[in-house]
Amino acid sequence: MRQQAWHVLPWLDVVKALGVHPGKGLTPREVSRRLGEVGTNILESKKGVHPVFLFLGQFKDFMVLVLLAATIVSALLGEIADAVTIMAILVLNAVLGFIQEYRAERSIESLKSLTAPEARVLRDGLESRIPATELVPGDIVLLEAGDRIPADLRWIQAVNVEVEESALTGESHPVAKRVAPLTDELTPMADRANMGYMGTALVAGRGAGVIVATGMETEMGIIAGMIQSVEEEETPLQKRLAQLGKYLVVISIAVCGIVVLTGILRGEGVYKMFLAGVSLAVAAIPEGLPAIVTVALAIGVQRMVKRKAIIRKLPAVETLGCATVICSDKTGTLTQNEMTVRQIYTDRKMIVVTGQGYDPKGEFHGADPLKEKGPLQNALKIASLCNNSSLTRKGVQVAGMFRSAGKEAPWGIEGDPTEGALLVAAAKAGIWRETLERKEERVGEIPFDSDRKRMSVIYKGRREKNAYVKGAPDEILRRCTHELTGDGVVELSEIRRRAIFRANDEMAKKALRVLALAQKPLKEYERVDERVEEDLVFVSLMGMIDPPRTSAGKAIVVCRKAGIKPVMITGDHRLTAEAVARELGILKGNNGGILTGVELDKMSDEELEKEVMDVSVYARVTPKDKLRIVRALKKNNQIVAMTGDGVNDAPAVKEADIGISMGKTGTDVTKEASAMVLADDNFATIVAAVEEGRAIYDNIRKFIRYLLSCNIGEVLVMFLAALIGLPLPLLAIQILWVNLVTDGLPAMALGVDGMDKDIMNRKPREPGESIFARGLARKILTRGVIIGVGTLVVFVVALLLGVNMLVARTMAFTTLVFSQLFHVFDCKSETRGIFEVNLFSNPYLIAAVAGSTIMQLSVIYFPPLQAIFKTTALLGWQWGLILLVAGGPSILIGLYRLVRNTWHGKRTMVGAK
Ligand code: ATP
Repeated sequence: MRQQAWHVLPWLDVVKALGVHPGKGLTPREVSRRLGEVGTNILESKKGVHPVFLFLGQFKDFMVLVLLAATIVSALLGEIADAVTIMAILVLNAVLGFIQEYRAERSIESLKSLTAPEARVLRDGLESRIPATELVPGDIVLLEAGDRIPADLRWIQAVNVEVEESALTGESHPVAKRVAPLTDELTPMADRANMGYMGTALVAGRGAGVIVATGMETEMGIIAGMIQSVEEEETPLQKRLAQLGKYLVVISIAVCGIVVLTGILRGEGVYKMFLAGVSLAVAAIPEGLPAIVTVALAIGVQRMVKRKAIIRKLPAVETLGCATVICSDKTGTLTQNEMTVRQIYTDRKMIVVTGQGYDPKGEFHGADPLKEKGPLQNALKIASLCNNSSLTRKGVQVAGMFRSAGKEAPWGIEGDPTEGALLVAAAKAGIWRETLERKEERVGEIPFDSDRKRMSVIYKGRREKNAYVKGAPDEILRRCTHELTGDGVVELSEIRRRAIFRANDEMAKKALRVLALAQKPLKEYERVDERVEEDLVFVSLMGMIDPPRTSAGKAIVVCRKAGIKPVMITGDHRLTAEAVARELGILKGNNGGILTGVELDKMSDEELEKEVMDVSVYARVTPKDKLRIVRALKKNNQIVAMTGDGVNDAPAVKEADIGISMGKTGTDVTKEASAMVLADDNFATIVAAVEEGRAIYDNIRKFIRYLLSCNIGEVLVMFLAALIGLPLPLLAIQILWVNLVTDGLPAMALGVDGMDKDIMNRKPREPGESIFARGLARKILTRGVIIGVGTLVVFVVALLLGVNMLVARTMAFTTLVFSQLFHVFDCKSETRGIFEVNLFSNPYLIAAVAGSTIMQLSVIYFPPLQAIFKTTALLGWQWGLILLVAGGPSILIGLYRLVRNTWHGKRTMVGAK
């Protein structure tokens, strides 16, 4: 089956050679046989880091290496117990680091599978969506504009197909594709007009192809290029933290150097001081920071997945928290995209259609299409034929003659819901495409696209040939010269044209989406191009309801509170857009805030920049307008989230700060341009993602605050002792232990802390803001000093009270550990103290603190560990002093905040009256 010159064979020979029926596709049995033979349709990607190397990588840090060397020296000097303990602690540290990084890698891996592409195939006579990895040679795939070609194929049907092949050939202009065989077997790949290649994208038209090669057998596989995946870009915060890490290394090493030198000058043993100094450096350098940030981001991303937002580019997680404007499509994102035709205007009459959803049962009030032959029947016929969707029951397509199949199952549609609604309306009058197609056959199509806002099909009967056209009423009526009435085709007068527009407005005001239907008799020899869409005969308007999503309405209220402006951008009519926007609360008060595509066209970029902040609804716009809107908003310093689905939306989605695509209806090209995919196409999901984005950033601030203030405390206690000329308050092993028990698990637990209940009542964060902004630096420094000085005070007081060095060190050691374990609860909120937050809301944190407490108690009370860690059991008064110094600050600050917040809360309430 491989390396054949498929391009020179007629397509029927190709399908024959590949053993497939073009109208039915492969059978499941044949598919699994072929899958077994050729394997799945994937390009072998580069392998991730092997876990063993990931683990060993934990030891490559410079200071850890120095410590390892020092440990080996200490072992050689006979300090075996010390060496073993330090080793054990280092291994434990490495295990923690490994777990963090491994989780980060794994979650990024699982994200990749979430954004994996799908393909529409014909198998066993049925159309279905399957993961593109399951395609085999011989599969018939159906493609439309915006799809990525999932494997190498030979076109067997191509309606105005244009493919962008730059990924493979470097040619950035789209090339037209056709079905006819080529003559030259040696035609270069770029010129094989009847072949489609994996990884290239359909930018216009629609068609079908038979797969000729999959996976590594494809041209793409052969040059083993491009792997579409989640981009593992570092976020701005990660980059800045990496920078900060470097400064901290230098500062820590300098401070540790001073500690070592002063100790040696004071007469302490060189070896002991060296070990203490290096341990301090290991403890002080927050080497775990980047990994914890990645884990916090990755876990946040997982949380977003549960809420149906799939992140493709990690930096978007941070940007989400800064979003100030969310520009959203209307259809399907703000509305349910389950359309039902409610009104039909034809032959000067408004007809009401009843019925629910896609169930083809309903009545026509005002006319009887079953009895009357005339414009209404004609309209329904166009609705049915100028249509590429199909009715389904339980996912099975239902053709007219089989319509009793799967009786109990609910009705659904496959394809565009707008077209589905039209199909259902026709079926309610007993008009089925399959029956009509026995008399006439489709011979051409000019596909729909958002720029044209219309679609046409050409049907050929025994004697006549007709174009059936549907689209946005303004686009269609502009092209109509005649009208179909009960008395036949008459010229379309200006009065009638205005009457039709009035009928359109009447429907649009009720939030109905209106489509106009028209037709035109064609001459036998007429070519299929846009000229068939001129001089049309107007037949009907059909208005369909697309109910707003209730969740979207609620999300808009949340947006406003969160200082985010919701904006609706739609290809629909101004009045429809306005009615829906009012229902959803996007528009309030009087008429302002709406711009149409025509008005936009008349504005210069500068004018748009001035107005853009006052506009909430854009109607009848094209995708290229979206790009202008994003740019204008960005010029106003807005952080813009923008949704898109069609292939033409990709540039705007790419340009936005947060490009968002639709998981269900979005095209592959737009998905790839986006930073985030909405699995449920729902506006509310964007708002949920913003909320998660804010929470992730908060959590990163929480553990940075905790880690850095603890590290400052650790360094300070040693540094001050050295300056004052005191003996070492903590030994090397003790410092490493503090680092392990407090920095490891509690810091990780903070990274997955719950979100603040006021999180969506705050204004968006400034994008350039430092991670230490809004008082975080101050908080870190003051608490660091409190922890450091407090520990030293306990040490000094203990010595002054006459206890021996063993007890004094154990007390200082324990004070340091408990100061940090108390402080972790302060870090849960930046505005509220320990008395105002739910201390037990994060079970991981409780477990981490409980675990650390038990570990510390065992080190003090368990004799073998006492020997290793040079500790001793403590007395009641000693515990009293330790807990006072360790817990006092959290309690005092908690009380202060309680009073301040209560007072402030009351004052605002009084103010509100
Ligand atoms: P959104 O609100 O997401 O922008 P939209 O459906 O209003 O969605 P488009 O899909 O670009 O935007 O459609 C633009 C216009 O084209 C619609 O308002 C409608 O009048 C017309 N239209 C939509 N779908 C079809 C179709 N399948 N065939 C013909 N015309 C269509």
